Amino acid sequence: MRIDECIFPSCDRRPHGKGLCRAHYNQSRRGGPLKPLELPVSEWKALAEVEDFEFLIESGSSVDLALRRVGVCGRTMQRRYRALGRPAPSMLATFADSRRK
Ligand SMILES: [Zn+2]
Repeated sequence: MRIDECIFPSCDRRPHGKGLCRAHYNQSRRGGPLKPLELPVSEWKALAEVEDFEFLIESGSSVDLALRRVGVCGRTMQRRYRALGRPAPSMLATFADSRRK
């Protein structure tokens, strides 16, 4: 765990107080159990898939193989990037276009 992140599991916001980010710190001050926050589930999924995809590409995998390992098609992966507001890699666009029927 890096110390520049909230201590709540899988929360990467900057700490605000007691090792917690502002949102989790406020949750703890209210006295209830700490709950995950931030992205809706669909965006967490998109982020996980994009990161898996990028990892596979960086490890030398082809676009085709990386998409199959992640389990989505090229068009879907483009949508994942869009959902996260990130530019999709150009090779992904090329790949998706070549598969268009
Ligand atoms: Zn947090």
